[in-house]
Amino acid sequence: SEGLPRPERTRVMVVANQKGGVGKTTSTVNLAAALAMHGARVLVIDLDPQGNASTALGVDHHAGTPSIYEVLVEGRDLAEVVQPVRDVEGLFCAPATIDLAGAEIELVSLVARESRLQRAIAAYEQPLDYILIDCPPSLGLLTVNALVAGAEVVIPIQCEYYALEGLGQLLRNVELVRAHLNPSLGVSTILLTMYDARTRLASQVAQEVRDHFPDEVLPTAIPRSVRISEAPSYGQTVMTYDPGSTGALSYLEAAREMALRGVAKAKEEV
Ligand code: ADP
Ligand code: MG
Repeated sequence: SEGLPRPERTRVMVVANQKGGVGKTTSTVNLAAALAMHGARVLVIDLDPQGNASTALGVDHHAGTPSIYEVLVEGRDLAEVVQPVRDVEGLFCAPATIDLAGAEIELVSLVARESRLQRAIAAYEQPLDYILIDCPPSLGLLTVNALVAGAEVVIPIQCEYYALEGLGQLLRNVELVRAHLNPSLGVSTILLTMYDARTRLASQVAQEVRDHFPDEVLPTAIPRSVRISEAPSYGQTVMTYDPGSTGALSYLEAAREMALRGVAKAKEEV
């Protein structure tokens, strides 16, 4: 499945939704792995103190491992903390350790507290096609750092009853960051997750989200799948854990849609 067009510049994508359990981490790691399997060079930045993305990618993140905490709080180079992900060529991860739990508070008193991640990324010299940032379930300084560093917000939405609740708050924050800190920021992608085609509720919610965001929602929805939820306990994405599963195939297709849309959009802007 090589041969997808590669972006001219690194696309920095912020996977955010302040609701927990909607599929941020699962989508970050699987889209990243899928993009890498399509031939791209991809870095995942784990910005959640839980370190779930690091776990799912099988990278070392025990306490004391050089991590995104040192980058944000101590000003270490990103290159010093990035680890390759085994089993997926072209995929890398800047892990999060439990230290990151204190960063939300420690950042408050630091200079340029909102733009520390953006600076670290700007100074990173390895060539990359995509950076995907996995955000914590809050709108604090860690998420603000991601929104300042990125150009595209990717919002996973779980197809359940309260799907759109709380989204207004996230969209207002995106607007605030765009107005004051990062004029190039916008919501580029909405990904429907944990979609169960057998329930009427899921298809109603999916339709409602598509009506609200006709340009942003990807055609492919990610189905609810046991294989997707099993993979992290093996330190793997579903892309390597069960490459032929419907979950892996839908992330591969969603990644293809993201890659093609980015190129179409870049052409529009020329
Ligand atoms: P978040 O990062 O938004 O908190 P996660 O990606 O950790 O959400 O997902 C929450 C839970 O749902 C996890 O246990 C994960 O394994 C599970 N999950 C995510 N996507 C799917 C899916 N498509 N099918 C089944 N389980 C899923
Ligand atoms: Mg998460």
